[in-house]
Amino acid sequence: MSEAGSEHVAVLGAGVVGAATALALQKDGHTITLIDRDEPGMGASFGNAGFIHTGGNIPLAAQGIVRAAMKMMFDEEAPLVIRWRYLPGMLPWIRRFVKRGKPDVFMADAHALNALTSRAVPAWKALSSDSQTERFFGARGELYLFRSREKFEATRSEFDLRRNLGVDVQEVSADDIRQMEPAVTREAQHGWYLADSMYVKSPHQLTRHLAARVIANGGRLQKMDARQISITGNGVQLTGANGDTLDADRLVIATGAHSKSFARQVGARVPLHTLRGYHVMLAGDAADLKGPVIDAEKKIGVVPMNEGIRVAGMIEMAGEHAKPNDKRADVLLRLARRLVPEIPDRLESRWLGHRPGIPDSRPVIGKSPASDRVLFAFGHGTIGLTLAAVTGQIVADMVAGREPPVDLSLFSPTRF
Ligand SMILES: Cc1cc2nc3c(=O)[nH]c(=O)nc-3n(C[C@H](O)[C@H](O)[C@H](O)COP(=O)(O)OP(=O)(O)OC[C@H]3O[C@@H](n4cnc5c(N)ncnc54)[C@H](O)[C@@H]3O)c2cc1C
Repeated sequence: MSEAGSEHVAVLGAGVVGAATALALQKDGHTITLIDRDEPGMGASFGNAGFIHTGGNIPLAAQGIVRAAMKMMFDEEAPLVIRWRYLPGMLPWIRRFVKRGKPDVFMADAHALNALTSRAVPAWKALSSDSQTERFFGARGELYLFRSREKFEATRSEFDLRRNLGVDVQEVSADDIRQMEPAVTREAQHGWYLADSMYVKSPHQLTRHLAARVIANGGRLQKMDARQISITGNGVQLTGANGDTLDADRLVIATGAHSKSFARQVGARVPLHTLRGYHVMLAGDAADLKGPVIDAEKKIGVVPMNEGIRVAGMIEMAGEHAKPNDKRADVLLRLARRLVPEIPDRLESRWLGHRPGIPDSRPVIGKSPASDRVLFAFGHGTIGLTLAAVTGQIVADMVAGREPPVDLSLFSPTRF
């Protein structure tokens, strides 16, 4: 140990989860080294849609979702796409995922997720109470929009479940939608509003800012393409691709979709797979959106951000290395224009990111089987931005020996 009561903790991965975890640990007096092979916030945390979802407590594995994806395999607007060439490598993951769709299993996963999502907004508020961090957050909730009454009604049980789990869910009429967002198409006739959610005006800038706070508070940022974890006599050693080493009392693995091999090195076989997602950035502010809106039928978000308007969404199963499909960007643009007709049409950039997907939609938070000196904080799937601050608090509790506010067995790396 570095000194009484404080340890040197290395946090591997400077995405939003790693940066928020580093800050929480630093608040407890630990010495922090934040490690990444890249600049902070260049992974999935760079390009997400920015929602802090109070409604993120619904697992992805709804019954029949894979069958639906198969039916839509030739529909380029489908929200979930499986690229068939990559199917054999993903089959074990998909089998586990399908099993999570059984009603009782699905409900258990929703309750587990809710233990985290219900704490997400308070945890972010605690982490961003200073004005420099607060400025990245917008107070608007999640506005889900539908054209078709039938499709809206088909989601009623899902939103009722959210409500039963304690989320503030309001049904909104066509008039409410006009009042809230005059820029949205008049075809949007039905909606749900989750009033307590928030959004982040630049996920990339927020992550960079959190990492900068770690450094300003005396932490260190180290560039390393990490490869090997070794448990030493009194701590942990990390070795990089070029042979550099780093010693610490503890190590937190927060490498998002790239965590599988690290987990395996310390005794955990975690079914982690990338759930690829896309965004496009549009220049200008002509759309006059007051806040983010969601096309709930196509499952895309249109979000006014500091950098322009972001259109984000889609889940594509095609592994880590397949080239981005540029057609997805065109589809996002087309769908966004249908939802917000006056949206600017100057395409600034396209992006593909890797969500760290676990079949039960629950993140992996806990101690490694090999040693309690190595902790896991990854696998947050579609809600990693939402859960980053609460994950940081839980990891800090574990290191301090405090009782975390949630049942950690629900997120254990040995649950699979
Ligand atoms: C299109 C899209 C939309 C999304 N929308 C939302 C949303 O609205 N709300 C929400 O809550 N979530 C959303 N998400 C999910 C969210 O972005 C992720 O869950 C979250 O960013 C994961 O954060 P992370 O820190 O775990 O991973 P990452 O941000 O990927 O960070 C992992 C870091 O580890 C580093 N790393 C990896 N391997 C190594 C190595 N060997 N050595 C050193 N460093 C390494 C990487 O460089 C990276 O910086 C979305 C995702 C996508 C793709």
